[in-house]
Amino acid sequence: MSIPFEVQRNANPMPKAQREALLVNPVFGQNRTDHQVVCTWEKEKGWISAQVLPYGPILMDPASAVLHYAQEIFEGIKAYRFADGSIWTFRPHENAKRMQLSARRMALPEVPEDIFLESLKQLIAVDADWVPDASNEKSLYIRPFEIASENFLGVRATHRAEYRVIASPVGAYFTGGFKPISIWISQKSARAGKNGTGAAKSGGNYAASLVAQSEGYDNGCSQVMFLDAESSTYVEELGGMNLFFVFKDGHVATPALDGTILGGITRKSLIQLMQDRGIAVQERKISLDEVRSGITSGLISEVFACGTAAVITPIGGFKSTSETLNISATEPGPLTISLREELTGIQYGRVQDRHNWMYRLR
Ligand SMILES: *Cc1c(COP(=O)(O)O)cnc(C)c1O
Repeated sequence: MSIPFEVQRNANPMPKAQREALLVNPVFGQNRTDHQVVCTWEKEKGWISAQVLPYGPILMDPASAVLHYAQEIFEGIKAYRFADGSIWTFRPHENAKRMQLSARRMALPEVPEDIFLESLKQLIAVDADWVPDASNEKSLYIRPFEIASENFLGVRATHRAEYRVIASPVGAYFTGGFKPISIWISQKSARAGKNGTGAAKSGGNYAASLVAQSEGYDNGCSQVMFLDAESSTYVEELGGMNLFFVFKDGHVATPALDGTILGGITRKSLIQLMQDRGIAVQERKISLDEVRSGITSGLISEVFACGTAAVITPIGGFKSTSETLNISATEPGPLTISLREELTGIQYGRVQDRHNWMYRLR
């Protein structure tokens, strides 16, 4: 069920010299490209329009449902430039499926997969020059999102929605480079509860994580780890990244997807890459006690977090109001390093893509 995209080019794009200067070392999230995709949906009609428009503000009624009841979902996916100049993305069908899962949970209309894929291609068709070269792991971060756009203050699922795509050239997510980061253990706030919205990629989950994030910053940590909301016993994930624990005997464990954790595509891909290497990966409950004793005894040798934005980030230790657990403060572990090399190698076209994960955008 596709709809034709109407393209209206930006008459005042950023001048070439300015764009090129900016693409030398883009700060994560700071700049946007010249265009955006806007698709609209109405309850009785379905998806009725698809446009590529100049980038610009959303003219919105203050009574728009999204502003009051947070009916919003999003995705995060990158466009990579290969050495031959072609532009590719990573497993977009997975993002399309996950956005549909998020939509169902948040009572928003599902964006059909073909519209999702076409929206990425259409944006890259007009903003191709914004995809940086591969040096320093640069890429174009693409942010598809959907909002309830009906002007209505009553509480019910929206009758009108907008699916939009914007993009931002990015460099490394963490300014400190590929160095182990410290993680704050959130004890006072949880991110997602049983049967809640934790498995949906929704802004509300992030809003709920920010107090803990600030607490983490205040304590010298760059990210926060959330525990299960019911018992505060099991580790779940970071505010926007999944977690892996590497054991000295060679096996690896990651918290099972139980409805409160976001099913990361990086997570899923790393499990595959590890299994390809013959590494046993357990998806199971992991208690904070196990993490504590594993780190103290040396049974846990590496911990890393993963997600599209930061790829793979080594974790050097955990901190809370009551304890400090140190793994290795200075260097990432060997598995963390080699998985990162392999995954980024596939994403930038330097390593054979044996699972056909890469999808050509241009
Ligand atoms: C997006 C996200 C992730 C990572 O998912 P990827 O598909 O790997 O980018 C992990 N946790 C949360 C809460 C997220 O929103």
